[in-house]
Amino acid sequence: MSTARAHMVDTQIAKRGVRDARVLEAMRAVPREAFVEQGYEEFAYEDSPLPIAEGQTISQPYIVALMLEAAEIGPTDRVLEVGAGSGYAAALAAQLAAQVCAIERHASLVAQAQARYRKLGYRNIDLRHGDGTAGWSDDGQFDAILVAAGGAEIPSPLKDQLKIGGRLVIPVGGAGEGQELLKLTRRSKTEYDEEHLASVRFVPLIGGDGWVEDGRRSSSTHLPGAAQQKKLTDLIAEAAELLPAFDDPGFGRLFDRFAEKRVVLLGEASHGTSEFYRARAAITRHLIANHGFTIVAVEADWPDAAAVNRYVRHLPHRSGEKPFQRFPTWMWRNTDVHAFTGWMRDHNAKRDATHQAGFYGLDIYNMAASIASVLAYLDKIDPAAAAVARERYGCLTPWQREPSTYGRAVLTESYRKCEAAVVAQLRDLLHDRLRYEEEDPDSFLDATQNARLIASAERYYRIMYYGGAESWNLRDTHMFETLDHVLQARGAGAKAVVWAHNSHIGDARHTAMGAIRDELNIGQLCRERFGENDVALIGMGTHSGTVAAADDWDQPMAVKRVNPSRADSYERQFHDSGAGACLLDLSGDHPVNRALRRPRLERFIGVIYRPETELQSHYAEASLAQQFDAFLWFDETNAAVPLGRENLQPGLPETFPFGL
Ligand code: SAM
Repeated sequence: MSTARAHMVDTQIAKRGVRDARVLEAMRAVPREAFVEQGYEEFAYEDSPLPIAEGQTISQPYIVALMLEAAEIGPTDRVLEVGAGSGYAAALAAQLAAQVCAIERHASLVAQAQARYRKLGYRNIDLRHGDGTAGWSDDGQFDAILVAAGGAEIPSPLKDQLKIGGRLVIPVGGAGEGQELLKLTRRSKTEYDEEHLASVRFVPLIGGDGWVEDGRRSSSTHLPGAAQQKKLTDLIAEAAELLPAFDDPGFGRLFDRFAEKRVVLLGEASHGTSEFYRARAAITRHLIANHGFTIVAVEADWPDAAAVNRYVRHLPHRSGEKPFQRFPTWMWRNTDVHAFTGWMRDHNAKRDATHQAGFYGLDIYNMAASIASVLAYLDKIDPAAAAVARERYGCLTPWQREPSTYGRAVLTESYRKCEAAVVAQLRDLLHDRLRYEEEDPDSFLDATQNARLIASAERYYRIMYYGGAESWNLRDTHMFETLDHVLQARGAGAKAVVWAHNSHIGDARHTAMGAIRDELNIGQLCRERFGENDVALIGMGTHSGTVAAADDWDQPMAVKRVNPSRADSYERQFHDSGAGACLLDLSGDHPVNRALRRPRLERFIGVIYRPETELQSHYAEASLAQQFDAFLWFDETNAAVPLGRENLQPGLPETFPFGL
């Protein structure tokens, strides 16, 4: 745990700009795992607030550090904290100050925090039950006051209890909205300096000088926001290049600027939006037909994509082979992919093997197949563990930070006990797949690569079984290596188009996942290994409409309504620009690109969409113009249409869409 804590301090806090050595030392010293709810210990060092009792939260570590640094707490100081919650922030303050007074309005939280202090040996914290908006009950004054809940304004009793020269740090804002984190420094009996620190989202400050209690709970993620760039919408409207219809040859020609790249990576902001598929198909058709691209590498299992590859290249079909039968089936079995593979097949008909375009899966370890097999096994052996696994696979996406999800994904003892059996089963599955692979005339896997796969598979499956950030990095590294092998196998000068989610394609170093949590992705690896000039990273986004997605891993697909984008997101800037369907070229030092480098929230919808917890589940901070070389915008989009049995026209074989 102490290693995880040190890592958290380095990556989430120091990297974001907290420099005060005493604050960093305190963050390294206080065991956050002792302040989270039982069962949540393994998530204690995530970059996220977590739920605690009474519907409250323990704050995100970075925000606590930011507040402590701003409060400039000295070793002889007397500090007041309003909203002690779990007791974590007060414990940190106690490392820095001589004495800490803390107030919490929920008696049960007070009792729990006091027990923690006794156990951990804190003697300089006086924690009381009450309404902190009224200030501390005696008349003493404080060198620093921290308020961990958001009020409509700064309660005057707190201003009065601040010493001259003292610092008060408090989130202030409207009900249900985000707040501004403010720092007040008292200059005289009546004068205070005010400084804006960040945009944040705290639970409400409820009390005599705060909000009235009305049963509402506000969201609980704190994200430092970017200042509003007033003219950004105008800049976008001016720079936007309007997109013609998908089947207009002019659509593809807009992408001639990327013709000389070795790899063009095409993202998507969800795994179930028709416009994103059709745009990728139009661009890819143009690059294949006019610019010598022969590889389409997609975020899918290798064996399933290999079946499609045989179809599009007129190679013999293997009997019994039905690709993309597992969750999330609609991602590749949909009308848009069907139309595109039909086009590839026609294009390849008149060409010899070296000039044909191939269809390859980057998830060489058969991620979907492996997950399906883990779930099937656990469903039989231990349904409770299977429920945990479903939740964990739903969170394999690094942008997803939903506190309530953590609760459902807490590991049980039996889950750990199943590990060996599950890994053994996955190892067998891999061996079967590789045997199959050896018989494939189009396979690029040689004996050495097979051996390499087998050697790292054990570790891979162990990590996949438990989920988390490490599995993401392992997966994206493997996807990159697969792409590299395919490029090599197709010979010198081979060029590839990659289809994967924005989160795999937009350079991770310019998103919260990479900048703060050390997560990488294919886009970043392509830039690093092939060189920025040889690679184009193209993202996509939408404001509203519908999307094909599930509630949970392995659950049925539904057509869901996409919430209109948030006011503080990039998406809303594009929407408000009124540009409609457009391309924005993000290369070059133009005013719009400079403005789009400033961090903002960006929406990421995967195979799972949870509109009810959208902020925590689907938004993450990023720098759009650094993440991508170009961005495609579709203001209103439609759900992809799956080719399930229910959509088959009478008489068509069940193996449709690939005609196998
Ligand atoms: N500092 C806490 C930590 O480290 O866990 C974070 C606590 S949470 C974000 C905010 C807390 O403020 C909640 O526990 C809530 O009950 C409490 N709170 C809200 N209004 C309050 C008030 N007027 N007086 C005291 N506590 C209050």
